[in-house]
Amino acid sequence: MERKHLWINGKWVEGKRYEPLHSPYTGEVLAEIAQATEEEATRAIEGAHAAFQKFKNTPAHERARILANAVQLLEQRKEEAARIVAAEAAKPLKAARSEIVRTIQTYQFAAEEAKRIYGERIPMDAAIGGEGRIGFTMRVPMGVVSAITPFNFPFNLVAHKVGPAIASGNAIVLKPAEKTPLSALFLAELFQEAGLPDGVLNIITGLGPELGPVLNTHPLVKNITFTGSPRVGKEIRKLAEFRKVTLELGSNSALIVDEGIDLDAIMDRVVEGAFSYNGQVCISIQRIYVHRSLYDAFLEKLVERTKRLVIGSPFDEQTDITAVINKDSLDRLAAWIEEAVQMGAKVASGGTVEGPILTPTVLTDVPHEAKVIQEEVFGPIVSVMPFDSLDEAISRVNASRYGLNAGVYTRDIHRAFTCVQEIETGGVLINDIPTYRLDHMPYGGIKDSGTGREGVKFAVMEMMEEKFVSFHWR
Ligand code: NAD
Repeated sequence: MERKHLWINGKWVEGKRYEPLHSPYTGEVLAEIAQATEEEATRAIEGAHAAFQKFKNTPAHERARILANAVQLLEQRKEEAARIVAAEAAKPLKAARSEIVRTIQTYQFAAEEAKRIYGERIPMDAAIGGEGRIGFTMRVPMGVVSAITPFNFPFNLVAHKVGPAIASGNAIVLKPAEKTPLSALFLAELFQEAGLPDGVLNIITGLGPELGPVLNTHPLVKNITFTGSPRVGKEIRKLAEFRKVTLELGSNSALIVDEGIDLDAIMDRVVEGAFSYNGQVCISIQRIYVHRSLYDAFLEKLVERTKRLVIGSPFDEQTDITAVINKDSLDRLAAWIEEAVQMGAKVASGGTVEGPILTPTVLTDVPHEAKVIQEEVFGPIVSVMPFDSLDEAISRVNASRYGLNAGVYTRDIHRAFTCVQEIETGGVLINDIPTYRLDHMPYGGIKDSGTGREGVKFAVMEMMEEKFVSFHWR
């Protein structure tokens, strides 16, 4: 069995302890993964800090070149990368391949952003007493960035941390999800080959609760970037004290389908938004509010289309739906369906457990208080509710502790702008599903969905300080 070690200061370091990594689909052991200790995490942080002293002065064109080299190397190995995602995350190959295409773009954006980091000229003489001075800001890297990532996009969400960190001249200690460490470890030698100096990227594997405290409190860590569940985000925020923190957390994303919409034209997108990667996407469609005039037709088409999804192995080219990430998740999802049914919901499609798979589930008549509405489902379950007035739909969308993306299909520009104005989320997508993200878009949530923004340019800004300079020249 292959043993995967820790990547510290440009070298593989043997761990003191290893844990097996299981395929979510077959249960087979894929590799033995080193479980970093606090001491090893500290070494990685100290190594990153030492590497930063030199890397912070590396010119932008050089940082851009390293990232561009990584783009090329990943391009050459993209099928291998997609198969790693399919194996460890049980992501159907079609979706795994598209994640790698996005990852390559994310690093490409990072290569470009490295050359576009600007400050601002401040007109000092706008204030009495500011005469004779030139004021400007400079964006400067912060030092060691601590990055903790989730399992669901193990390449691209890592790229949203590693790309901006390199672009901005920071050093990084990455702790990938324990469920999907192989995708992150794949990057270690790839970036070394791309020319990244040793110590700028360190990858330590292991459990969050064990490594979180040191990664979030070590005095040399200056910036924390976390993508994952709101529960962990809250803990990190508490530990972080005065550090700058970016939290990209979960949601229970909603879609509004207004009157007069051509349902056939949107149904493929709706099904994709609800069920791609088994709904294990932070902006997966979880709640759909449909204008009452379209409700019956919408439900019929959604169920018909959902039943056509192909269930199977992640390695089968046709597969749409496969194993959810683990048994705990499967049990939780089944229990939440059961709770909704107890509260009066009806199962219009799916709802059955087949081995490690939950069949794609459409629920109706779901009370607003049910967990499948209130909490983040993060699985292949979608609930469909009718509405009569747009105000009612918007207030339902907003009656959530989350606020990441919302989608609205409408033909009426006035109603579209009402949604833009009134919906409380980080992003509003008009005539699209909420499950829409391009990697250079500003992306992030409000309320319990997080703080700060990613999207390469925005993540670069999160990882830099704005230093002010006043130059008294006459
Ligand atoms: P998770 O919160 O369980 O784990 C995420 C990471 O945090 C893992 O690396 C894990 O090891 C680590 N972790 C766990 N406990 C920790 C602790 N106490 N201290 C520090 N780190 C700890 O999330 P997950 O199950 O891997 O991913 C699913 C979640 O991620 C969902 O809530 C989803 O919405 C969210 N997510 C958000 C975005 C976004 O951009 N907003 C994108 C993808 C996923």
